[in-house]
Amino acid sequence: MLKITDLTAGYGPVTALRGVSLTAEEGRITAVLGANGAGKTTLLRTISGLHRAESGTVELAGQTITRVPADKMPALGMSHVPEGRGVITELTIDENLRLGGLARGRVKAEELNRIYSLFPPLDERRGVPAATLSGGERQMLVIGLALMARPTLLLLDEPSLGLAPRIVTQIFELLRGLVNDEGLSVLLVEQNARSALSVADHGVVLNLGQVVADDSAATLAADDQLRHAYLGF
Ligand code: ATP
Repeated sequence: MLKITDLTAGYGPVTALRGVSLTAEEGRITAVLGANGAGKTTLLRTISGLHRAESGTVELAGQTITRVPADKMPALGMSHVPEGRGVITELTIDENLRLGGLARGRVKAEELNRIYSLFPPLDERRGVPAATLSGGERQMLVIGLALMARPTLLLLDEPSLGLAPRIVTQIFELLRGLVNDEGLSVLLVEQNARSALSVADHGVVLNLGQVVADDSAATLAADDQLRHAYLGF
């Protein structure tokens, strides 16, 4: 689904990614793990066209998209959920979701109903302003908003940040269901490596902008040395 080859990117004199190569398979959850400053967010932003690669390539379903601007990505099937739960707090849940669907033209009621069936807590509160949502509900809303564009590849940046473990489990189970039932592909950036590896199929560990491990989630989770050195658990 997604193939990244020798990707380098940075900020002036700071090199954030140094020759990163990885793949995210179709219908799988691929976790990108690593400590603060490892380059995870820069990787997602470079994939989705928000940050410019210095060199290397990004391919989506066989098509090179390295220089495609971010606003063209939804039409190619990619949705990016950045860190920080950005929703328009003055608008209702329903209005926020409708905005998410605009990338694909007119929003149909069945599309909204599909999202509400995935996230029952949102269904109960369709008409309330997003400002009133809890952190977990707001995370559901941003994921729902991204799903309204009917992506084939979902990029998620730290969805667990600041959420109670119970809510993290709920959100990850939901992702697992989407992947299993609809064949969605997910690239999941997480500092919370333990939880991410419990839901992911595959994992890639970054350190100082370089890939230091790339293996099945089960193999990474069982590697004591790797866990202690890079994953913090
Ligand atoms: P975090 O979990 O803290 O967001 P991360 O793994 O996502 O960490 P990045 O945010 O991609 O890492 O940062 C990678 C490197 O690039 C770090 O050294 C960081 O200081 C640097 N960096 C990130 N954003 C900028 C920026 N806007 N200007 C300059 N340097 C930056």
